[in-house]
Amino acid sequence: MPGRYAIANWKMNVPPEGIDTYLRALASHRNGRASVVVAPPFLYLKDVVAQAPANVAVGGQNCADQRAGALTGEVSPTMLRECGARFVIIGHSERRSLFGETDAVVARKLALAIESGLTPILCIGEDQRVRDAGEAAILVSNQIRSAAVPALESARELIVAYEPVWAIGTGRNATGAMVAEMISEIRSALSRFWPSRHSKTPILYGGSVTPDNIADLGSNGRIDGYLVGGASLDSAKFLTIANGLMSLQ
Ligand code: PEP
Repeated sequence: MPGRYAIANWKMNVPPEGIDTYLRALASHRNGRASVVVAPPFLYLKDVVAQAPANVAVGGQNCADQRAGALTGEVSPTMLRECGARFVIIGHSERRSLFGETDAVVARKLALAIESGLTPILCIGEDQRVRDAGEAAILVSNQIRSAAVPALESARELIVAYEPVWAIGTGRNATGAMVAEMISEIRSALSRFWPSRHSKTPILYGGSVTPDNIADLGSNGRIDGYLVGGASLDSAKFLTIANGLMSLQ
């Protein structure tokens, strides 16, 4: 059975309560079947690794698609690993839309992250235009196919996050029924394109997740956890979301 995850993506923010207070609050989460991961901006990664309680793992929000070299401003997957990160978010829609990341770049990052011993959190999802055109299932299936790199075979663990672009940071979350439908499309794409991984890969949902909508989102029994942006900046809200994973079927 896939693992369960609550992943906090701070984006280019730090929690207003302060990093130390935030991390101390997370210590009260009892992992059980659900693991907690915090992805701070690169600059704070070592601080978070140093202060995180034992039940909290740390991830990068992005990584370079090259091992090393003349790439000003970039951070390699190996550097992340050496700083103590265990996870890395790859292909977030903000990277794809604001920084021009193509499926080919995402595939290279995925392969290098695996090679460096990181667990990739691969983000996929459709924008509003694609959803309106009825092409969301085709798009996510193509995103999975493009990410079918040979390195997947040697990955210890991989996570997929279904994040519809129209739901990210907008306050408009997908409904539990929509998410269930898309997760079954993603599972079927995984069985076609990542056959060795399809039953083991957790599929998370991300897009305006808050303590108020997890009951609906989790009601279909298909979600393996959440990737949380805005609400993850408040330890109390993020803990409620993480603890809510315990009650998923
Ligand atoms: C995200 O950044 O991955 C995200 C889902 O953000 P938010 O929860 O703010 O929509």
